[in-house]
Amino acid sequence: MQGMNVFQQNVQYLKGVGPQRQLQLQKLHIYTLFDLLWHLPRQYEDFSQLQTPEQMREGEMTFCKGEVLQIVKNRTARGMFIVRAHLLCENSVITAIWFNQPFITTILKEHETIVLKGRVRRMGARIEIHVAHYEKSEHHPLSEGLLPVYSLSEGLNQKKMRQMMQTLLQTYLPAYPEILTKAIRDQEHLLDIHTAWRQIHFPENNMQRAQAHKRLALEEYLLFRLIMKKDEGFKPPKQPFATLWPEEDPLTLKIKQRLPFRLTDAQERVIQEIREDMRKPYAMNRLLEGDVGSGKTLVAAFSMLMSKARQTQSALMAPTEVLAIQHYRFLEKLFHGAPILTACLTSSTPAKERDSILEALEDGSLDILVGTHALLQEDLNFFQLGLVVIDEQHRFGVRQRARLSSKGQNPDVLVMTATPIPRTLALSLYGRLSISVIDELPPGRLPIKTKYLPRRDRVQAYEFVRKRIQQGEQAYVICPLVEESEKQDLLDVHTLYQELFERYGADFKIGMVHGRMSGEEKQQILEAFHRGEIQMLIATTVVEVGVDVPKATVMVIEHAERFGLSQLHQLRGRVGRGDQQSYCILLGEPANENAYQRLLAMQNTNDGFKLADLDLKLRGPGDFWGVRQHGIQDLKILDFTQDQQVIECAQRIFPWLEDTLDIGLKETYLQLKFPYLKEIAVN
Ligand code: ADP
Ligand code: MG
Repeated sequence: MQGMNVFQQNVQYLKGVGPQRQLQLQKLHIYTLFDLLWHLPRQYEDFSQLQTPEQMREGEMTFCKGEVLQIVKNRTARGMFIVRAHLLCENSVITAIWFNQPFITTILKEHETIVLKGRVRRMGARIEIHVAHYEKSEHHPLSEGLLPVYSLSEGLNQKKMRQMMQTLLQTYLPAYPEILTKAIRDQEHLLDIHTAWRQIHFPENNMQRAQAHKRLALEEYLLFRLIMKKDEGFKPPKQPFATLWPEEDPLTLKIKQRLPFRLTDAQERVIQEIREDMRKPYAMNRLLEGDVGSGKTLVAAFSMLMSKARQTQSALMAPTEVLAIQHYRFLEKLFHGAPILTACLTSSTPAKERDSILEALEDGSLDILVGTHALLQEDLNFFQLGLVVIDEQHRFGVRQRARLSSKGQNPDVLVMTATPIPRTLALSLYGRLSISVIDELPPGRLPIKTKYLPRRDRVQAYEFVRKRIQQGEQAYVICPLVEESEKQDLLDVHTLYQELFERYGADFKIGMVHGRMSGEEKQQILEAFHRGEIQMLIATTVVEVGVDVPKATVMVIEHAERFGLSQLHQLRGRVGRGDQQSYCILLGEPANENAYQRLLAMQNTNDGFKLADLDLKLRGPGDFWGVRQHGIQDLKILDFTQDQQVIECAQRIFPWLEDTLDIGLKETYLQLKFPYLKEIAVN
């Protein structure tokens, strides 16, 4: 076996890896030698930075080394275990402390030397360290330089992981293929691939680590471009349509004229972009980005009218039943009296109704089908599906989108999202996808006023809400959990309902909605809220996407620190949908700097694009969409927000690489690197 094929082998081929170790590695999604090599250190410990007791500062993190003199285990009155180890560090004794990890006593032995990292507490002359990370010093194969720290699974430790990496590098690294020539490497000041691999796992210093990072980030990005490029040139032909409708067909015009408001310029522009795409002989694949409340549903509606005008059917898929029904109602109202047949299909549609919908769908009398995942069912056949619209696309996987499209012959596809993809990412991610942006809100919208309050000010927050409600407005209260949970000290909807009901039940009507309710129950509550019969709605994130009640002007989010930025922004988007001033109060107890920054960002901006960019920075691209669908979670090293230079370098090299890379190697490499994306490309 040669070259990349070597790395396709199962990890068990590595010396020292038996069935048990193999299972431990699988838990880390490591199956092949390739996966193991790409299991990069999540951080490095710098042994040149060991501190002596004199250098340790109160409250700061320290990194030190000491011999274990004595180990003591205690239990507090509240049942918490505290393990203390007295260590001889230089010539002083310091105390390392572990909370709630009683098993430490079975691992540590007296007279052993350990290195540890933790926060310093100075109590007079005594020094305590609250341990964050520790290792036995014998686990360190190197005495100098940076030591890799890997993500582990149960049964593994850093020493074993490092040993495996060493063996892997020694045994197999020479087989790893180099895809860049020496000339190119010299020109771009790049390491050869073998040196890069050695230095990313075992760098001697930060400079070596940075050089290795650059080469491997580039390697990764080049491969990523290769796989994305695959479908760039491919333009799937549509079936020929009977008519190419004129600039604007009479029905569309009529519906537009009777709207109670005018379309915004941005909506007009985007509709025009879609119109042009839809007239082309090959399928549209367009992403519509628009901040919450920017009026994407209307754009979808006009696109479906175009589809009707050329005598094809449309499907609109939404991630929740609540949203699907809302869209359906919206369309019914918009098309009122016009000769357009619309239906809604969800998993709770009664069998008989479902049968007649399916029939109308198949004989072509149904023009528009709105629904949830229920639209993906096997027995659903369109007469001629010409347009697929997917709302809140980040809630769906690539395969689900593909499944709906496959019900037609290369239909036009419009996917909509309020979670904008930061530009750097969008450019790299999508070859063939065009992007339309609604960068304007309907006129008269006032920016939502957002305030972050610590939890101790809760009562004050609810008093504010009470006042707004007494002015005739409506409020959402968002809460992260449905039921009381022992593990987490979080408020749940039921407890909150009790609390608020006792306080305000006599003053106004309070409702509750959450994911454990049946579709019908949810619907009834939301409709009552819509009609103004409920003034305060306590909800979980079931209202996160799309719910449109323009008279709701206040939102309180409990435990706001629990939510990601994009999610907070989506939630907040439920208010500020009319022309009244709206408010959002974030109650929270941020546990770290990162969480605090998120809350501040929410307070300071209403701009979804800015928040998305920041979210990407704070969370990294892997977490960004939460769903395994974009392949970016397979990017192990490239950081879109930091590696701008690498991306520029790749731009220069890419055309050359495309021409020179061996086809066989390319296939194997991509298959190994992006197993998931590969699957999509095939579908
Ligand atoms: P989103 O982009 O978040 O999906 P929606 O499509 O739900 O936004 O629209 C938000 C609200 O704005 C709806 O009540 C909708 O009827 C209203 N709306 C849409 N376009 C306009 C417009 N041009 N002028 C005024 N209101 C509009
Ligand atoms: Mg929407």
